[in-house]
Amino acid sequence: MIPARSFEGKRVALFGLGGSGMATARALVDGGAAVLAWDDNPESVAKAAAAGIATGDLRAADWGGYAAFVLSPGVPLTHPKPHWTVDLARAAGVEIIGDIELFVRERMAHAPSAPFIAITGTNGKSTTTALTAHILASAGRDTQMGGNIGRAVMTLDHPRDDRFYVVECSSYQIDLSPSINPTAGILLNLTPDHLDRHGTMQHYASIKERLVAGSDAAIIGVDDSYCAQIADRLERAGKDVVRISKRLPLTDGLFADGADLMEAVNGRYERIGFLEGIGSLRGQHNAQNALAAVAACLKVGLDLGEIQAGLESFPGLAHRMEQVGRKGKVLFVNDSKATNADAAAPALSSFPRIYWIAGGLPKEGGIEPLRSFFPRIAKAYLIGEAAPAFAATLGDAAPYEISGTLAAAVEHAAADAANDEAETVVLLSPACASFDQFRNFEVRGEAFRQAVTAIPGIEPIRGDRR
Ligand code: ADP
Repeated sequence: MIPARSFEGKRVALFGLGGSGMATARALVDGGAAVLAWDDNPESVAKAAAAGIATGDLRAADWGGYAAFVLSPGVPLTHPKPHWTVDLARAAGVEIIGDIELFVRERMAHAPSAPFIAITGTNGKSTTTALTAHILASAGRDTQMGGNIGRAVMTLDHPRDDRFYVVECSSYQIDLSPSINPTAGILLNLTPDHLDRHGTMQHYASIKERLVAGSDAAIIGVDDSYCAQIADRLERAGKDVVRISKRLPLTDGLFADGADLMEAVNGRYERIGFLEGIGSLRGQHNAQNALAAVAACLKVGLDLGEIQAGLESFPGLAHRMEQVGRKGKVLFVNDSKATNADAAAPALSSFPRIYWIAGGLPKEGGIEPLRSFFPRIAKAYLIGEAAPAFAATLGDAAPYEISGTLAAAVEHAAADAANDEAETVVLLSPACASFDQFRNFEVRGEAFRQAVTAIPGIEPIRGDRR
């Protein structure tokens, strides 16, 4: 736990008492602040009160006396409209911040040279965060990972100059951290997402840009035009910018040439690492994640040998193209996190011949955007409510069956794949939400793992269970 000492002796209002809100309230209290906490959910308020946190309806509070208002990142700051507490704080001129800002201030006050890597982007944040933390930890560094992944940031160990922080930041968290100043900031990519919460793409991109604009070194994936423009703008402003590309040879920066990781300096190239044979980092999208992690680790002083060793031992994250088993020539991959067509595309593009388990609660557009991958589908096994619609989209383009349940789909796919002459994969990449049949995508992924490990003769592959 990091005590938030920047508000010692001051009054702070806090709204949002979920997991990270509770941790933040405790950190403020430990740091000596007088906190008044509230939530729209009476159960959360009761839980906080039982844990000894002072609670009270912020409608009735005297806002003039607060040094800050700490908001949980899940609560609307701007869109679709500001939460009522935000209106009250603004009217009283009270600054609105989140837990990442508390961490940033704590580090600046007590251990300003503690290496701090912050990661954002539309896709790949968790993978890049976990990979970066893994490389640092396997190189023997004292590594703390948290934020939008795993532990809330204020529950990490307190900053020390030799302690490395790897923090995943959602746009909501960046929006609430006006002084974010990582040693190395990573902006992976930008595509339209969460616009319900950010209004326009411009606004969304400008929030993400703040993370790299505040960094000592700005590591930016330049494969989309939004990020490319941000890199140009920051460079013109005199910032240390490291461009990364998963597909283009750059004049300066890091890029992928097939499975080789290359560094370009003034148009001269050198191979600095490789992803060949690393199952947890398959696919072009993972080349982007790996390049970003490599660039960040170089910035905080690791050498290439340490970095390559970390890449090779990365176990991968659960439910994201996670290898769960192998039987002969058939690999079983759990990509349950792919809850829409866009998220399923990287997995489908990573394997040449696929026994594909898809379906669940359908999202708008279905699997139409995946049409270019249909020639790779040896057969599709359709489950859940989306099955009839997916069958209609597949039509004659790929063989399919309506399996109904995940268990039946695994059984049939495994039997068919076993009779295939080629190296193949049984891939759960559903392109659907899970809620018609499972509580969430994690439970769906676990059900897949269990069905796979129950196959006679399977060799289970067990990765990181973060
Ligand atoms: P996030 O934390 O940003 O949601 P994850 O690392 O959890 O991202 O990956 C979620 C899914 O997004 C993966 O299963 C994969 O399909 C896709 N993905 C991962 N990295 C990238 C990337 N760099 N570019 C595009 N898609 C990606």
